[in-house]
Amino acid sequence: MNEIIIGIDLGTTNSEVAIVENGHVIVIADNGKKILPSVVGLDDNGGILVGETARNQYLVYPERTVKSIKRLMGQDTQVDLGGQLYAPQEISAIILKRLKAIAEHYLNQTVTKAVITVPAYFSDAQRQATHEAGQIAGLEVVRIINEPTAAALVYGAEQTEQKRMLVYDLGGGTFDVSVVNVESGVVEVLSSHGDNHLGGDDFDEQIINHIVDHLQQSQQIDVRTHSKAMARITRAAENAKFVLSDQPYATIEEEYLLEHDGIAVHLSLELSRTAYEEMIADYIDVTLDALHIALKGAKLTASDIDEIVLVGGSTRTPCIRERLFDIFGFEPQSAVDPDLCVAMGAAIQAAMINGQAVDAVLVDVTPYTYGTSALGFLYGEPYQYQYCPIIHKNTPLPNRKTEAYMTAVDGQDAVEVTIYQGEDPDALSNTKIGEFLVEGLRDVPAGNVITLTLDLDINGILHVSATEKDSGLQKSITIKNAMARFEHDDLSTAQQRVGQLFGQMPTQHKESSASPEVAEAQRLIAKAEALFEKVSTEDKEDLVDLIEEIYGAIEEAANDRMQAAVAKLTDILYYLES
Ligand code: AMP
Repeated sequence: MNEIIIGIDLGTTNSEVAIVENGHVIVIADNGKKILPSVVGLDDNGGILVGETARNQYLVYPERTVKSIKRLMGQDTQVDLGGQLYAPQEISAIILKRLKAIAEHYLNQTVTKAVITVPAYFSDAQRQATHEAGQIAGLEVVRIINEPTAAALVYGAEQTEQKRMLVYDLGGGTFDVSVVNVESGVVEVLSSHGDNHLGGDDFDEQIINHIVDHLQQSQQIDVRTHSKAMARITRAAENAKFVLSDQPYATIEEEYLLEHDGIAVHLSLELSRTAYEEMIADYIDVTLDALHIALKGAKLTASDIDEIVLVGGSTRTPCIRERLFDIFGFEPQSAVDPDLCVAMGAAIQAAMINGQAVDAVLVDVTPYTYGTSALGFLYGEPYQYQYCPIIHKNTPLPNRKTEAYMTAVDGQDAVEVTIYQGEDPDALSNTKIGEFLVEGLRDVPAGNVITLTLDLDINGILHVSATEKDSGLQKSITIKNAMARFEHDDLSTAQQRVGQLFGQMPTQHKESSASPEVAEAQRLIAKAEALFEKVSTEDKEDLVDLIEEIYGAIEEAANDRMQAAVAKLTDILYYLES
């Protein structure tokens, strides 16, 4: 084999290095971390720091720390690092050298060649500067490729038919959107647009401002004059942002933040995702305007796009996915970690240059969307069963997401939670896979917050729990086999579920038809499900519990348990039908 060529994503905020090994794309971790912050600094003794350690000292020693050097690439300028001036290429070279060393450590051999990615809008001078940075770091840059090209390669390197993809890349400090054409492993960027000063850092800043205002209003403290407290607030703000990508609320808590007039000041503040999304709405609008400009530049409309690829850590912000869905009418791809996608594409390109075979990048993803229903709108009309997706199709497994809902009437003491599998905006057109009742809610006005957590594991077991936010009252269910394909049609869903169950058993069991006991259970389940629409909520709940118990018992081949549940189901059916 030829000498290995590494793939490098040299980012404004973070950088990564990847390789193709035995056909698999691997992002190489350094001390367990695949992401290296693109920050360079000097320690107390003048020693060089790269990555996390440099980033950690930035707030305390900005004069001997350099970040976001990528913004200066190609400019005839110099930056000060501990009293000495350096060209942007030289600072970038320090980051590249570190990535080269990480790869060499992993491979246990010297690395001299790399493919490096740059934004599609980079000018010749900026590309040239990137080339030079590679050379200074001791790397022959065999090719510079565009970041959207790399991302598209991850999703489409091996496909032959033509596809038009939209690559939406929102990182820490930059935003780019590109329209690309992919055919037989060749990617062509049709158009690109973006904003060089927009990204997750702006989102952090909004939360920081919110915290600063809160301290000003509640305790009359101007915290901006306390640099250590500000450093903690900055970190807390970014953490809250991460939490809000998966949860509807984040608690920002910093004990002993500072001392004011001899008294310790603690910070404790809850931020809802709704409030946060309002803070960043204008930024998202800017990205969508850029998206339309990019489409126009490629002389295409939204309906010409076959796939949306999400790149950059900030695309984990849920409202971005929602806004894109509103425009395109389908879910963006996000099976591959958006932080690592570009580096992986660079490695794929490197392997292609090297004549190495590359397997499709396979990750475990959910093939379906899971969610619940709530009062909302459908096609502009008020509707009782609006589908509210919680875990989206094609997201990596395991996956855990929480959403918040509110009671609709004053004094509402119970909510019925229904879980669906499917993609239709009308929940009733999707497949109901479980339901339960949460009773004993507090006697409060409408708007009592109930959070719903869906936790889907790699084996398709879905744990669902609903919690009354203010009291902690909780009820949960487990839906086994949630990734089976449940069709929403006239055929008995029970028969299908049992069929699926067999579909998942080891092959030797597949051939044999269901045992007489299982066939009997199957018949009873079909009978029970036919009664769903006619019986009371409580009776239905009992039926669902028993059906689930039977499925579980069949799956675990626990015949006695199955028989016991079948006996109970027979009794209930007898009672309901008489
Ligand atoms: P990148 O430049 O692609 O490495 O993206 C870095 C940006 O992604 C930073 O602003 C991070 O704070 C942001 N980011 C990373 N993870 C998340 C997350 N789970 N939710 C929201 N933003 C995130």
